[in-house]
Amino acid sequence: ENLDKGLEKSKSSFFNKLGKAVAGKSKVDDEVLDNLEEVLVTSDVGVNTTLKVIERIEERVAKDKYLGTDELNQILREEIAALLSETNIGEETDFTVPADKKPYVLMVVGVNGVGKTTTIGKLAYQFKKKGKKVVLGAADTFRAAAIDQLQVWADRVDVPIVKQSMGSDPASVAFDTLKSAMAQEADVVIIDTAGRLHNKVNLMNELTKVKRVMQKVVGDAPHDVLLVLDGSTGQNAFEQAKQFTKATEVTSLAVTKLDGTAKGGVVIGISDQFKIPVKYIGVGEGIEDLQVFNKFEFVDSFFR
Ligand code: GDP
Repeated sequence: ENLDKGLEKSKSSFFNKLGKAVAGKSKVDDEVLDNLEEVLVTSDVGVNTTLKVIERIEERVAKDKYLGTDELNQILREEIAALLSETNIGEETDFTVPADKKPYVLMVVGVNGVGKTTTIGKLAYQFKKKGKKVVLGAADTFRAAAIDQLQVWADRVDVPIVKQSMGSDPASVAFDTLKSAMAQEADVVIIDTAGRLHNKVNLMNELTKVKRVMQKVVGDAPHDVLLVLDGSTGQNAFEQAKQFTKATEVTSLAVTKLDGTAKGGVVIGISDQFKIPVKYIGVGEGIEDLQVFNKFEFVDSFFR
């Protein structure tokens, strides 16, 4: 229900365009396929993914000889589901952390404004709800507002936060956070980091240093690096994913703000292109508005 609400704009825009793409046509021909290609590209599914979907539909047209436009909905649903099922991404159904990591260390990266802090707050809330002891680390020390915002979320969720003053060394904050988490026997540590993409070498060096210093406390930290992307920015999200995956090893993705956008298709494109699991999607500003991404539910909800 929450997912349906979050995808409302994307769905209505998509089906509106799809309707226009097949208007006055009873069978899928080259013109319909061209139109469909445009619908998918403008829905931010991504060019690569669009071409794959179109190819699959072409194959079906060739094989079945005739394909009614009234079946297009169902076929799109099947082909997109098939495409996603070729990867092992988005199969999560619950907010869980690996049982064999204590503390489980999650490092969060992403440029300012994408919803990084909000996502950290929502995640802390979910893990806490599961009975986990969570500690936050404010290692985005570049902006005072970033530290303040994380503090607001720490208060809201009622979890401890480790921070230093603005401009302090992010690696030092991360180190302190893990030390404190160990002392408290925490289950989950979430480290916020700065995401200034304008200087790639600096970004890479900073993230590498944060990791190295964390490993002095927890040998195999971080256990996951979560990249937060703003789903409403379409192609920018793809570009950021490209940059961050070059700067550090990203192991999972969160796509935010799907509620305010018609670009929900971006989730499909990003999943397909980067082969990094989209683990979470943001569908609102509230504390409950973060969902575990499940590709089957997503496709179901989209084509319902
Ligand atoms: P940060 O700079 O990346 O840490 O971004 P913030 O977490 O401060 O979020 C920036 C803005 O986006 C805030 O106004 C959030 O309330 C809003 N936001 C974050 N996630 C979502 C979401 O899933 N849906 C909506 N509608 N807004 C969101």
